[in-house]
Amino acid sequence: MEPVDRSTIWPYDERGEPRQFYYSRVAHPSGVAAETELGRRENGDALLYASGMGAAITILLAFARPGTTVALAEGCYYGTSKLLGLLDGWGISYVEYDQTGPPPEADIVWVEAPANPLLTMPDWESLRRHPGLVVCDATVATPVYLRGLDEGADVVMHSATKFLTGSHDALLGATVTRDPERSARLREFRGTAGIVAAPDAAAALVRGLGTLDERMARHTETATELARRLEAHPAVSNVRYPGFSGLISFDVEDARRVETSTELILNATSLGGARSTMESRHRWEGDRIPAGLLRFSVGLEDADTLWADLEQAIGH
Ligand code: PLP
Repeated sequence: MEPVDRSTIWPYDERGEPRQFYYSRVAHPSGVAAETELGRRENGDALLYASGMGAAITILLAFARPGTTVALAEGCYYGTSKLLGLLDGWGISYVEYDQTGPPPEADIVWVEAPANPLLTMPDWESLRRHPGLVVCDATVATPVYLRGLDEGADVVMHSATKFLTGSHDALLGATVTRDPERSARLREFRGTAGIVAAPDAAAALVRGLGTLDERMARHTETATELARRLEAHPAVSNVRYPGFSGLISFDVEDARRVETSTELILNATSLGGARSTMESRHRWEGDRIPAGLLRFSVGLEDADTLWADLEQAIGH
């Protein structure tokens, strides 16, 4: 591995001109290495940010203005709807819609593939016909299962905090586009506003991408099996699993009791790590989702061991 260069400055050349790297808010070596690799996977121009939400706000800074309307996939990441709500004072409004069908009229359509935690998928055919800017949060799919730009998205975003880095130890976001003007605008807002990735987090992405295919195959294999067993469990209803990646959600009578009864599965937020996590989302999202909904991020542990932990927690 390349050592991580944490410098914030690099000297100008002998003529006094900036070299490729001169100030880390603009660009740094680990960031460029990670962007090159993610861009290759997505066949686009990738940019990194301080977090997934850092990527989301940069997209809005770059492409929304007072009067902009956003159609947001219902049941998608709660933080995205919260961010759009906070921007009400900036004259940006949003409506939630069922992304399995056509979006309403809007300047920006923001979908999530699949939505966290309701795990629906967008209707790409109608999105391709929509005149607005199509943004796809592909955090849960990762480029292993979805290349959103190929499907018709104008901007793909990721919380790279999740599967892309995969170890619950790096906070990181990314965007990918194929339009040089859009990339330039995102880059300008990112660098000027300073919504930039730390070099260590960028290095974690280079590492994570090196094992992404193998990890995602394992997440999918285990989650497919556990979703099947959950379906058959008499105390479980509404098992939601899109058939790929490591995220399952399901409903139980008393989510708080079940989430606090697991031993191997961490009762913690976030998703996409080697270590499984599970939490009741009602504590954060309120009535936006069913009261008994548990979001279960299936890690890389043994499927039977995870099932034994789930079974004892559900049947407690
Ligand atoms: N998008 C999705 C689908 C997420 O699950 C999350 C975080 O949970 C985010 C965006 C925000 O990412 P971050 O926590 O890296 O800011």
